[in-house]
Amino acid sequence: MTSQRTRDRMLDRLRGLGVVNNQVLDVMRIVPRHLFVDEALSHRAYEDTALPIGYSQTISQPYTVAKMTQCLLSEGVPNSILEIGTGCGYQTAVLASIFPQVYSVERIAALHKQAKQRLSELGIYNVQLRHTDGNMGWPNPSYQFDRIIMTAACSEVPEALAHQLVNGGIMLLPFDDGNDQTLMQITKTPNGLISEAVEKVSFVPLLSGLG
Ligand code: SAH
Repeated sequence: MTSQRTRDRMLDRLRGLGVVNNQVLDVMRIVPRHLFVDEALSHRAYEDTALPIGYSQTISQPYTVAKMTQCLLSEGVPNSILEIGTGCGYQTAVLASIFPQVYSVERIAALHKQAKQRLSELGIYNVQLRHTDGNMGWPNPSYQFDRIIMTAACSEVPEALAHQLVNGGIMLLPFDDGNDQTLMQITKTPNGLISEAVEKVSFVPLLSGLG
């Protein structure tokens, strides 16, 4: 159930849904999603669906991971990226196979710890993880990133994140207006933030404080 054929079927589905970036498709073919979910669910790991990872959280749907990663690469491969919401670390692993430097924060201690162990077992070393509230951005406020990805839905853009994005940088986040969630691509310009709606999405909410 975790065979290459099963993974290839997932790739066919991603292509069918309009994922065209070969770098993204190649990485998603290789990163072992079944190792990021509970063993009891590993036979479903290559279905195009979100799955529970405990603590009322989910691993993102493969299509969503692929689509978001593709959006982040719309202007080539930047150097650094900050992810808000490490969760099980699957999206983090996908990013780490493409971006030279990946930073990721998670508010739930147990998920942070688990992701840290998984990524090191997979020999992924270009990732720095922190157990912290992503509303505050990366704990060192002087850091800035070329890209920021949020994998939980917010109802306003945390100010710290806008601050930690370089000029010309792109931030991708699910925005919840109370009815619907929309994936927004936000570009930072000298004149402010420019937002563009990508498509409807479904994410767990961005929460405050530590869990
Ligand atoms: N990319 C992850 C998605 C996990 S779900 C994956 O594929 O597994 C979203 C994650 O965001 C959850 O783990 C949740 O705990 C985390 N989260 C929610 N609010 C947060 C916050 N303020 N700071 C950091 N992480 C947060």
